[in-house]
Amino acid sequence: MFKIIHDRPSCIGCGVCAAINPDHWTMSSEDGKSNVVGCEEVGTDEVLEIEELGKDLDAAEACPVNCIHLYDKDKKLI
Ligand code: SF4
Repeated sequence: MFKIIHDRPSCIGCGVCAAINPDHWTMSSEDGKSNVVGCEEVGTDEVLEIEELGKDLDAAEACPVNCIHLYDKDKKLI
C-alpha cells in the first residue's frame, strides 16, 4: 500500500500532475491548484492511499515544486 501526500499550499497550479494522471489529479476552478481525487484532508495536506505508484510516481517526479510526496507505508520515496 502506497500513499500520496499532496502539500497543497506549495502547489503552484501548473497542471502537470493532472495532465499525467487525470484519474487521481484535477485542477481546482476555485484557486487553480490541483486536488487529489477522493483524498482525505489532513491539516493542509491531501492524503490518498493507492495500490500502485503507477503514473503518480511520474507526476511526483515531474512536479516543479516537489509538493507531491509518495510513501511506501511509512517510508518516504519522494
Ligand atoms: S505538478 Fe505540482 S505544482 Fe503542478 S499542479 Fe501538480 S501538485 Fe501543483
